[in-house]
Amino acid sequence: MLSLEQETGAWDSVLLEPFTEDSFVTNLQQRFKRDHIYTYIGNILISINPYKKLALYSADLAETYVKRGPFQLPPHIYAIAATAYRWVNERNEDQCIIITGESGSGKTETARIVLQFLVLVSSDNKEAKIMKDRLVQANTLLEAFGNARTMRNDNASRFGKFLDIEFDYKGDPVGGHSRTTNLALGDRNFHIFYQLLSGADIHFLKNLKLQRNVEHYNLLLTEDNQTTQAEEEDKKLFLYTRTALEVLGFCVDEVINIFRVVAIILKLGNLQFVPCNNIDGTEGCAIKNDYELYEICELLGVEHKWLQKALTCRHMEGGVVSDLNAGDASRTRDVLCRTLYSRLFTWLVNKINIIIKARHFCKRKVIGVLDFYGFETLDKNGFEQLMINYCNEKLQQFVVTLTLKNEQEELIKEGLEWSRIEYFNNNQICQLLEHEKHGLLPLLNEPHVQCDSVYWSRVEQCCSGHTHCLTTDTNLPPFCFQIRHYAGTVVYNIHGFVDKNKNFLPKEISRAMYNCDHPLMPILFPEGNPKRCSIKQPLPIATQLHVALTSLLNSLSNRQIHYIRCLKPNEMKQPRIFEMALVQHQVRYLGLVPTVQVWRSGYCYRLPFAQFLCRYKMLCVHTWPRWRGSPVEGVSLLIRSLPIPSAEFTFGRTKLFVRSPRTVFELEDFRHMR
Ligand code: ADP
Ligand code: MG
Repeated sequence: MLSLEQETGAWDSVLLEPFTEDSFVTNLQQRFKRDHIYTYIGNILISINPYKKLALYSADLAETYVKRGPFQLPPHIYAIAATAYRWVNERNEDQCIIITGESGSGKTETARIVLQFLVLVSSDNKEAKIMKDRLVQANTLLEAFGNARTMRNDNASRFGKFLDIEFDYKGDPVGGHSRTTNLALGDRNFHIFYQLLSGADIHFLKNLKLQRNVEHYNLLLTEDNQTTQAEEEDKKLFLYTRTALEVLGFCVDEVINIFRVVAIILKLGNLQFVPCNNIDGTEGCAIKNDYELYEICELLGVEHKWLQKALTCRHMEGGVVSDLNAGDASRTRDVLCRTLYSRLFTWLVNKINIIIKARHFCKRKVIGVLDFYGFETLDKNGFEQLMINYCNEKLQQFVVTLTLKNEQEELIKEGLEWSRIEYFNNNQICQLLEHEKHGLLPLLNEPHVQCDSVYWSRVEQCCSGHTHCLTTDTNLPPFCFQIRHYAGTVVYNIHGFVDKNKNFLPKEISRAMYNCDHPLMPILFPEGNPKRCSIKQPLPIATQLHVALTSLLNSLSNRQIHYIRCLKPNEMKQPRIFEMALVQHQVRYLGLVPTVQVWRSGYCYRLPFAQFLCRYKMLCVHTWPRWRGSPVEGVSLLIRSLPIPSAEFTFGRTKLFVRSPRTVFELEDFRHMR
């Protein structure tokens, strides 16, 4: 049972002897070779993406993990999920499973396995069954609309997802709630586009005025004019999406309306504007493919001239109407596409939340699963990547603070000896991004920053001296800055930053959309209601993200947190390939080595005296069946009666600390022998 057999390597890196970065990574490699993709650092799970299906997940195995305590079975996602599930029931505490790792490391898959686990192990009474089905389908739907194919990952999440599952006192799921942070806007290739084009039958497509082939749509072309279509796969997934909508109770009309919006976005992306001269000699523009606009307006249920004007003209002060040039009109079109998509997504999430909301009021506790977009570097990085990487920087700060700092603080609080372990603190990088006066993100909101070039000069002024930021360097292309993130160096091109952040939606557009017959439009564009005298613009994207993230992380602080840290074994998305250097890089930036060191210098397991006594009192005649003295004395008596060296245990002020996992295995074995 124990973990050091040659062929499987060490289950728990804390037990490695000698412990070095090399022995740590080598252990991961040896385990990976034998398809042991999971390894512990104490109670943190490391998972390496196998890029192939493994026979590691089943109802029976899930059951086994629920029955046995931690440390008794090989490392597994199930063990983490089982602990969360046990604690939500036994300790009546809210739980959270935080899954981190870079794009493609397996976070979303892991989140799905956790959800599946909770579905498998909870009861199958009728009500619970319905709710479980809905939770799973909600997840499917969010992925279809929120994930996209990128160069690095075929199923890259473009939104941050935090799914809470609520349990009643019996441990049955009674509801859920999904919190999402804004989509990384500007990404074009969301799965749902491909699914719709490949999977819808010909009549449905005709109704939506769409063509089957992906090449027809500008939004689906990548930079090098390539399209990526996996027709058969997308067909199947479209069916899943339709099923999910059905199970969640969307009615036929709603489903049609949703896909009409998807079609409108695809078609809007094809609109082209050509320059023409206005009567007053200024440059205006006309729509080149007007038939496309006619079809869009038909789908929207609005008169052609309304949308045409909204896309190409602006009302100035004093009732003057001015025509936009082709460039500005294209930008308006892009903002409309992005806004439509992100508001449709938000609407979907809200609908889903109503559907999965717990029906009855009862006292309940939750297990949350956090799956964010992972750290990302593409060939060209822009505003979206900065937003994604900012989130990751904050999450890393949160995780490091909790796992390392809190561990050291707990030892101090309990009056135990500890040795300082140095670890990389990414506060400086977070400051570079969010410092009120000269952070890269707040600079975007300065009133006089109205275009990219002004932003650029502010960035040069404020950030060029920062140790983690480079703005002028012979190797940097023009208008690019480089950030040394905790996870690696990324060069960002500032093109489009100001517009994308502001995401300013002209009021003409809001009004036109509000006036459409399409039933979703007044809901998605409420600010277009002419009865509203002023149109409040939504907060800038970076601000929205900052607010959402801060509130999310704050809300986690009073939960019991479990960590799963995902690693990517290679860049080729291939099974069986373990690139030493790549893994080493991730191990370094995730701070895994100091994490192991903190655990090694300290204790792998601890319990308040009373709880320890309660669990193990049967192992000693003096404490069984009941101990009447103080818990600390009982514990002391108990461990003296065990054949375990006393150096393995240390008494803190309120808890008993156990040094090595080996001892915990032994304690558990003793219990089972009774
Ligand atoms: P992330 O969310 O971290 O960006 P994903 O979870 O989307 O990464 O994983 C990327 C791909 O890797 C998945 O589409 C899947 O093909 C593969 N993958 C990830 N985890 C597993 C796993 N446990 N078993 C099999 N394949 C996996
Ligand atoms: Mg993902």
